Amino acid sequence: MTDQKSYYRSFSSYLKELFGQSVYRISIDAGFTCPNRNGTIEAFGCAYCSPRGSWNDGLGRLSIDEQVAQQKELIRRRYKAHKFLAYFQAYTNTYAPVKKLKAIYDSVVQGDDDFVGIIIGTRPDCIDREKLDLISTYTEKGLKVWIEYGLQSARERTLKLIERGHGTKVFQDAVLLTHGYGIGVGTHVIIGLPDETETDVHYTADFLADLPVDLVKIHNLNIVENTKMAEWYRSGKVAPLSLDDYANLVVEFLERTAPEVAVARLVAESKKTSLIEPRWSLNKPRAIHRIVTCFKERQSYQGKLYR
Ligand code: SF4
Repeated sequence: MTDQKSYYRSFSSYLKELFGQSVYRISIDAGFTCPNRNGTIEAFGCAYCSPRGSWNDGLGRLSIDEQVAQQKELIRRRYKAHKFLAYFQAYTNTYAPVKKLKAIYDSVVQGDDDFVGIIIGTRPDCIDREKLDLISTYTEKGLKVWIEYGLQSARERTLKLIERGHGTKVFQDAVLLTHGYGIGVGTHVIIGLPDETETDVHYTADFLADLPVDLVKIHNLNIVENTKMAEWYRSGKVAPLSLDDYANLVVEFLERTAPEVAVARLVAESKKTSLIEPRWSLNKPRAIHRIVTCFKERQSYQGKLYR
């Protein structure tokens, strides 16, 4: 097996360096919704987002305590690991009054020494100083904290097309504000969005390279049922990337990414029953192996073209 670490900085190895041991994420659906789904911005969500997103329905039916207990048990048994990050993942995890946010975050991490950090996934238009004041209290308590902001593309026309409901300026502002609080910043991007070319992918990578981003999650565009993207696919408005094309674009994206940025995802997962295309994404190890091979063939690595 190729040594992946020499090609890109994986989040798992970054966590191992940071904590001196293996640390695993525990994904939590804390019952939030999203302003781009509940009618505040839009009622139908981003064009690629299904009503349940990529969230594991089985976990969502459990209480937060049950979700945590079930995953801890599984991780301990499978990986013999005992330290965790609380990953508030489903929907927009800062979309509530500060008092409610505190109650939810506390309910998971307060008094539980198994947790060494928190990751909060959200939209860049759902953060402000009051929320950051709260979130930074967890760093003061010794937890490592990241906020992950969805961007998907740095092209304004793409953000409009996929109906994100925000532009790049609000993303830049959120990243800079969060970084100023000493909180880690993560971001999500999608490769293969409609009408995007190789140049657009490079543009997004360069845009992020100019910002204090600590971790990146790269997703292939998964076309899933019950989304606008599925309608566009059926009408020929969007076509899935082949695995080879995707692997090349991931490498080109990471060549422009700073070497110290941790890569927390290379391939998006969707439920087999709702995924239309690309079906190759169902075999994640094979897709990651293709990306690593592509790095090797190009004699390349993360940060090679970083300005
Ligand atoms: S912001 Fe996230 S949760 Fe909300 S509609 Fe878009 S992808 Fe779905």
